[in-house]
Amino acid sequence: MLQYRTVPVTAFQQNCSIVWCDQTREAAVIDPGGDLPRILAAIDELDVAPRLILLTHAHIDHAGAAGQMARELALPIVGPHEGDRFWIEALQQQAAMFGFPPAEPFMPVRWLQDGDTVAVGRSTLAVRHCPGHTPGHVVFHSAEARRAFVGDVLFAGSIGRTDFPGGDMQTLLDSIRDRLWPMGDDTVFITGHGPESSFGEERRHNPFVRGT
Ligand SMILES: [Zn+2]
Ligand SMILES: [Zn+2]
Repeated sequence: MLQYRTVPVTAFQQNCSIVWCDQTREAAVIDPGGDLPRILAAIDELDVAPRLILLTHAHIDHAGAAGQMARELALPIVGPHEGDRFWIEALQQQAAMFGFPPAEPFMPVRWLQDGDTVAVGRSTLAVRHCPGHTPGHVVFHSAEARRAFVGDVLFAGSIGRTDFPGGDMQTLLDSIRDRLWPMGDDTVFITGHGPESSFGEERRHNPFVRGT
């Protein structure tokens, strides 16, 4: 079964998630946006073996430490979808704009597509392409654990911003309805910022997506 621990990083309190297979203790690190020492301390404490870095999208608070972590631990960076290539190429400008420390440049070894799967030990994450917040945003779904790691697509009580370049509100709402809701109302989602919630809870109470 897939296990996980979330470590809030950066001034934006972005939820970096360490996910691992409890049979092999092999792990993936989703969205190492910054504060690398804190992420490494959690990996040590959990006693898991990181095998890859996964990115939901390439905003600086999600991807800022990916390059350094990949180099220091010799890990491949997988994702997001190629629609976010321009955000990766603009990593330095993003760091300057948002007051982040300089970010080490990188390119993923593999872009992800809707319907792809990623192995973490003996567990599998299914990839859904969920554009709208960014064009290349993906989410990672563990059907067995009934968990989804959704980055900045959906928050408890809110949805992702769509006023950045490449963002689009209707596209985001379509992604949520067509690609998140089918995972089931009882699926708990780990969001990019703030507390966990379930899709059922959001369908009932989130004013942006209520009743969809
Ligand atoms: Zn974002
Ligand atoms: Zn974010």
